Amino acid sequence: MPRSDGAGPPGAPPGTDAGTGAVLTIDLDAVAANYRRLKQQLGSVPCAAVVKADAYGLGAERVAPTLAACGCTTFFVAHLEEGIALRRVLADARIFVLIGPRADNAGAYSADHLMPTLNSPGEIETWASHVATRGAPLQAALHIDTGMNRLGLTMRDIDRLAADPGPLERLPLALVMSHLVVAEQPAHPLNAEQLQRFRTARQRVPPLARAKASFANSSGVFLGPDYHFDLGRPGAALYGLAPTDDRPNPMTQTVRLEARILQVRDVDAGESVGYGAAHLRLRPGRIATLPAGYADGYMRALSHRGRVFIGEYAAPIVGRVSMDLITVDVSDVPAHLAAPGNFATLIGPEMTPDQVGARAGTNGYEVLTQLSRRYHRNYIGGAATGSR
Ligand SMILES: *Cc1c(COP(=O)(O)O)cnc(C)c1O
Repeated sequence: MPRSDGAGPPGAPPGTDAGTGAVLTIDLDAVAANYRRLKQQLGSVPCAAVVKADAYGLGAERVAPTLAACGCTTFFVAHLEEGIALRRVLADARIFVLIGPRADNAGAYSADHLMPTLNSPGEIETWASHVATRGAPLQAALHIDTGMNRLGLTMRDIDRLAADPGPLERLPLALVMSHLVVAEQPAHPLNAEQLQRFRTARQRVPPLARAKASFANSSGVFLGPDYHFDLGRPGAALYGLAPTDDRPNPMTQTVRLEARILQVRDVDAGESVGYGAAHLRLRPGRIATLPAGYADGYMRALSHRGRVFIGEYAAPIVGRVSMDLITVDVSDVPAHLAAPGNFATLIGPEMTPDQVGARAGTNGYEVLTQLSRRYHRNYIGGAATGSR
């Protein structure tokens, strides 16, 4: 990710003023590059974008128009409210909402031309009655559960629809979809099993065989053409997360989180650092304090485990992550770098969201979606550059 040296204090990211404590730089050009990379992987199959959870924490309002400018015409969100908000940003896009309609909110989907995902026979019925009352061919997606056991029509539901596809004949289906469980492990046998279930379910129910199909999330895109069907549906890889375990990450990093060093202090052997006196110094050394903490989504599980970078130097987190602050050991970092006012990198190419997640006992998805609104956000690239 580019860094420019210009205005601001030493080491300060662009868009920073003297008051800024922690800066989250979001590179929209990197998101665009990832979209193009996924498109290339999909060949002639179109690529949608999953922008639920505020585009995995990066900000859907900025990310979605960037993707639309790259030619993306289909978007997925999880909640109705997210779809309503996205419609204000993208007037013409096809927007699917992964959570299905209820009788009391079906009208809100159609009012904003949002396509619900029908996840159960009850939701098919609800949407069919709504379509009947509106008298318009309102399109929807239908989700088949091929192994997640979370949302979607079960194989038993498919048996019933195979015997009587009547409930579907009246519904214009824009898409039939299913979701992979372990696609990040290409050799896992469940991938091929889910694929087979998806194909069989479609073959057994004519309206499902006729509809366009979507199967691949980010990891699925990298499982090969058998998994692509008519539409790719990646989220995580757009934001730079690695789609496949145990293979080099082909995606570009999209976020950099930097925090200003507030203070540096010497501590003696025998002293403790932070709450709970959980870190007891064995050797004398130097501690730097940075303004990011668990209230910012910098997880408390990173206590004693995370690390930040100051220039080329790694500085381990010592003591507990607190609400607003972390403390790092800078005993081995040259003093002119580990100095108040300079910035340390908490997330970036040298410490990716996937790596932060692994250290916190979670994954890169959780690291990204927890990124705080308290950080100063600096968007670079994309349609327009600017701070907010
Ligand atoms: C979140 C989600 C995706 C995107 O998955 P990634 O692993 O982020 O690419 C696709 N489909 C469904 C149904 C999802 O819930």
